[in-house]
Amino acid sequence: GIRLKEEIVRIQQILKAAEIELVLEQKRPLTKTTLLTENILSMCLKEAINNVVKHSGATSCFVSIEQAWNEIRVTVRDNGIFKNPDEGLAKGYGLIGMKERLEFINGSLEMQMTGGTTLIIKVPNDSK
Ligand code: ATP
Ligand code: MG
Repeated sequence: GIRLKEEIVRIQQILKAAEIELVLEQKRPLTKTTLLTENILSMCLKEAINNVVKHSGATSCFVSIEQAWNEIRVTVRDNGIFKNPDEGLAKGYGLIGMKERLEFINGSLEMQMTGGTTLIIKVPNDSK
């Protein structure tokens, strides 16, 4: 299992190699989250960044991580262009897989495709 902190190190490397600027906003590290929740958030972040690198043509990527009393929210926004896949979103499995994993822990995935792509990932804050 991987903690979000470790995944952030990896996305820093991936974006750097792709020459895409990373703007990371996290006021404080996650506290008392379960490994399952962090595993799923890490997988989602990884896939979101893979998509930015593979599809967006962006020069910059904004990532924010916020933990509130009731939920954890991860936002990934790029300044590229959303590319409509030829055969709908069903062409790849990344976004569908993300949605399924999030639903498994009562989370959700929201997408905005205006001026680049924004993913808003929300999961209940299961800290104890
Ligand atoms: P896989 O994730 O299975 O390797 P994939 O990346 O093509 O394949 P998804 O991750 O489900 O599949 O994404 C579906 C499609 O949405 C992509 O093929 C691409 O056309 C578009 N897309 C997704 N994210 C972005 C993005 N950040 N910028 C531009 N287009 C995107
Ligand atoms: Mg993908």
